[in-house]
Amino acid sequence: MHTELGIDIQRALELLQEGKQVAVPTETVYGLAADANHEDAVLGIFAAKNRPHANPLILHFDHLASAEPYMLAFPAVFKLLYQSFCPGPLTFIVPKSSLVSELITGGQETVAIRFPKHQVLQDLLKEFGRPIAAPSANLYGQLSPTTAQHVYSQLNGRIPYILDGGACDQGLESTIIGLENERVLIYRYGSITAEQLAVHLGYTPEAKIHEHGGIRTSGMVKYHYATQTPLYLGFKNKQGQAADLQILLSDDQTVSEPKMILSQSGSLTEAAQNLYATLHAADAIGVERIFVEPFPQDGLGAAMNDRLSRAAAKFSSND
Ligand code: AMP
Ligand code: MG
Repeated sequence: MHTELGIDIQRALELLQEGKQVAVPTETVYGLAADANHEDAVLGIFAAKNRPHANPLILHFDHLASAEPYMLAFPAVFKLLYQSFCPGPLTFIVPKSSLVSELITGGQETVAIRFPKHQVLQDLLKEFGRPIAAPSANLYGQLSPTTAQHVYSQLNGRIPYILDGGACDQGLESTIIGLENERVLIYRYGSITAEQLAVHLGYTPEAKIHEHGGIRTSGMVKYHYATQTPLYLGFKNKQGQAADLQILLSDDQTVSEPKMILSQSGSLTEAAQNLYATLHAADAIGVERIFVEPFPQDGLGAAMNDRLSRAAAKFSSND
């Protein structure tokens, strides 16, 4: 299959209407979109990504009223967070209605819904008038894409169209939340931090981000978000070897080359924007190993450490 790269929203719309898969920009990472109400279209997402069918997909809507038919309830506390953060990088896990197939939910009775902020996707959703199912537009387990070129390098030949909307401005996936025993829980760390949620909730939501029964999300699997080059989350090595690339939050003159810097000013927001692009670049330059300096474990640092430890797990396990 020939993969076209362009900025034609009408073309993307037509392909979605035909039940095809299209990579689309979002404010978090690029998504691989298809008509959520069309079974073959959804199956095509799993096929293009090599994604296991047990991993549920997020449904994307332009706003809350469009999502209502697809869920049985949207608790008051979610409405509060919706008003503060949506459209934006927050995904809600809610009980699904009968309109949502088990293919979307991985057999679960809950569905994940999100209201993306990127104007291109907002326009597409409004014109399409149906929910769009979209996981990240990468091959299963590999690095998430934050530019159209990243998508092309992984999905070339597997999908007909990549809608280029520029570089994603958040650069990290959405934060996934659910409600258990009247408390909001974080199922996946992401662009909205626990601290930001706490301002509205009056408490810091606990994280439940590992696989152990209950809600299952693909971000929970142990190996994920991985580079091809072995990657380690470790401390700085001042005199590194030429074959070892070090990725640092901010520059440190005492650390030898080769190195890459995520943010000259040490900003976690900027580091998050640059993280995947830097990992894609690091993977492409042909070093033997990549070492990434761990981030402070709060705010976006927690989300980045989470992604990197899952990437590193691929290279440090014996199984
Ligand atoms: P990705 O497919 O990489 O964009 O990630 C989407 C995330 O949303 C994955 O971690 C999914 O497993 C998660 N997700 C989607 N639907 C559900 C659901 N019903 N319950 C829990 N997690 C979900
Ligand atoms: Mg993903």
